[in-house]
Amino acid sequence: MEKSITKERTMAYISIGENNRLNIPDNPNIGYIEGDGIGPDITSTMISVVNAALEIAYSGKRSIIWEKVAAGEDAFEKTGKHLPQESLELLQKTVIAIKGPLTTPIGQGFRSLNVTLRQHFDLYANVRPVKYFPGVPSPVTHPEKMNMVVFRENTEDLYAGIEWKYNSEEAKKLRTILTKEFNVNLTEDTGIGIKPISKFRSTRLVRKAIEYAIKNKRRSVTLVHKGNIMKYTEGAFKEWGYEVASEEFEDKTVREDAYLESPGSYQDRIVIKDRITDNMFQQVLTRTEDYDIIATTNLNGDYLSDALAAQVGGLGIAPGANIGDTYAIFEAVHGTAPKYAGMDIANPTSIILSGSMMLRQINWFEAAQILEEAVTQCYAEQKVTQDLARILNIKPLKCSEFGKEIISRMRGRKDQLAN
Ligand code: NAP
Repeated sequence: MEKSITKERTMAYISIGENNRLNIPDNPNIGYIEGDGIGPDITSTMISVVNAALEIAYSGKRSIIWEKVAAGEDAFEKTGKHLPQESLELLQKTVIAIKGPLTTPIGQGFRSLNVTLRQHFDLYANVRPVKYFPGVPSPVTHPEKMNMVVFRENTEDLYAGIEWKYNSEEAKKLRTILTKEFNVNLTEDTGIGIKPISKFRSTRLVRKAIEYAIKNKRRSVTLVHKGNIMKYTEGAFKEWGYEVASEEFEDKTVREDAYLESPGSYQDRIVIKDRITDNMFQQVLTRTEDYDIIATTNLNGDYLSDALAAQVGGLGIAPGANIGDTYAIFEAVHGTAPKYAGMDIANPTSIILSGSMMLRQINWFEAAQILEEAVTQCYAEQKVTQDLARILNIKPLKCSEFGKEIISRMRGRKDQLAN
């Protein structure tokens, strides 16, 4: 990691003001979790790229003081805990953080660290922008038509962790209640999971997606649900989504049916539509350009965001963030790819672009823009790591070399503008 920006600067934490507005100092402390497996490689590359983008955009007036937050295997070795209390306290202090991937140890009773972080900080929206970079090999004919942002509900649905093994006492009790009180008969070999979907959580997720669409001048928000089968959970999500649009954004949104009757009357409105999940998986391939912002429940969003990422070149590229009303943790969306750990060959684009999302979250748009342009340029020139080089049959760059290529393009762009 670059050593230039260290703790000799005054400690300056982001604070939370009225209406959850963030007060951002010019040199905020930002938390980072290196991650397991390929985490240290991609995270250190991301930090040097973000530092360079800030230096180029603001000539030293703005910078980040990176605060390492212990989590994952490294923390476990040192403290016996994968996510020590001090780490949670530090993340609380920095408000904004970025993380590499963390291993979820396989074993009974182990809760994923990612899920723990999301629940602890109530990071209810998993936000995944998916856009094509020309030059990246893609499995579809027109990847350039893809420009979507998925807002996936992050705190409930089947991920709430309410489930019991088929032979547990709890599962037995529930089966008995279901039989006696609801005349629902389940066989003795049936495990049980519960899918809670609430109005409050659905509404705040859809609200966030609509606010994003308005702020970023997008065209539509599509509510993706499986309400034809699960009426009171998935179907309710859809109904509550339409409700929040009409009650809170009446003059800014329009339902698709009204829009289609008279498109000219609603030129500047965000069109709210809904699609059933299975159809949506087809639509994103056959009518890619018709979709823009997507708001969906947890399980749908999990599947859909990876499928969309695959259309533009895979998980190594797509960025992501978990965002609540104040706290936000930006992250590489892929896992720890343990077979590449410590080899400096993983693709760091996902976490680098997550770093760029983080800069946008704190309104440092100029640095984000410079960074994204340089990544675009690298891909256009087919400067790529091994995951893509092997498809293109060209020589791969190492993870750190890819970071240096991005930095050199950012510097080149600055020199160009100066002349
Ligand atoms: P994975 O780590 O994402 O890796 C699966 C495969 O994807 C890799 O073998 C590699 O493919 C490719 N890949 C992923 N990221 C890459 C990158 N940055 N650069 C190049 N190639 C990349 O998925 P997994 O093997 O299922 O999971 C491993 C561990 O990660 C598990 O413990 C899981 O729980 C954890 N995980 C964490 C997160 C998170 O922290 N957000 C998310 C998902 C999984 P090839 O083999 O084809 O080269």
